[in-house]
Amino acid sequence: MHHFLDRSSVVYEMDRDNTPVLTITSGDSVTVETEDCFCHRILSENQCVDEDFDLSHVNPATGPIAVEDALPRDSIVVTIRAIHLDSQGVIESVPGWGLLGNKATSCKTVITSIMDNRVQFNGLSLPARPMIGVIGNAPEHGAVGCGTPGNHGGNLDTKEIAAGAIVHLPVFVPGGLLALGDVHALMGDGESCGTGVECRATVELSIELAKSTGLSAPLVETENEIIVISSHKKLDRAIYQSMVLAVQLLMKLTGFSWQEAYMLASISCDVRVSQLVNPLFTAKTIIPRHLNSNGLRLSQMDFGESGNE
Ligand code: CA
Ligand code: CA
Repeated sequence: MHHFLDRSSVVYEMDRDNTPVLTITSGDSVTVETEDCFCHRILSENQCVDEDFDLSHVNPATGPIAVEDALPRDSIVVTIRAIHLDSQGVIESVPGWGLLGNKATSCKTVITSIMDNRVQFNGLSLPARPMIGVIGNAPEHGAVGCGTPGNHGGNLDTKEIAAGAIVHLPVFVPGGLLALGDVHALMGDGESCGTGVECRATVELSIELAKSTGLSAPLVETENEIIVISSHKKLDRAIYQSMVLAVQLLMKLTGFSWQEAYMLASISCDVRVSQLVNPLFTAKTIIPRHLNSNGLRLSQMDFGESGNE
């Protein structure tokens, strides 16, 4: 069955107590309109995130969507079929924001035109790489603001979460309560100044439920890679956790011992940063799919006791 969710139904926190605005069955597809991270309140270069800007309502995520029969220890598997971008995006640099926020002395807004899959920035024409910044289920405990990433997903700002990718998210509460937003037309690893090219979008998804997978943290599959994502308030711990999970996954995919899988990760996997600018850092370990002749596949995978250490 196909569903449509417009951008009027948003949450600012992922929370087990949120009421679903749509309930779907595994195998359904959904077209989701997403709002931009500033709630479409910065539309000209005369506006910026100054002291008058309400930062208590940013990063809206459309949803939540409940998946029938989803229970804790299951995974919701989201295939991103397409991301259609709005024709305008916003990039923002704000004192205190991002990696070099101490050097930014005033707010600056750049409004970009997005057309024919290209982003116009300061006279440069850059190829767009549309991605979803915020995608997640309700977390196990409490409410987590949509600006924060975690094992539930959330503000992962991972550029591989793009059309063609499959995102695996752990379910912590009945129904899962999937929500998404914060699409970027373009973003580099790190998201150094604190924003990508922030824009509204319409996203086409198909959603499946995988039962009793034991998945503990988000995974992304692309055509050629499996990406193991972890977030932590310390960057080195985020990197460490993503490697712990990647080695566990490699053991399951190859049948190797822990140490053989660790060595395989060392010689074949890249460790990279998703983002450096959210309340928790997000790191990723990139496993190439073609480590064996058939290509590694996650379908029917039991992730087992792959908890963070
Ligand atoms: Ca974001
Ligand atoms: Ca963003």
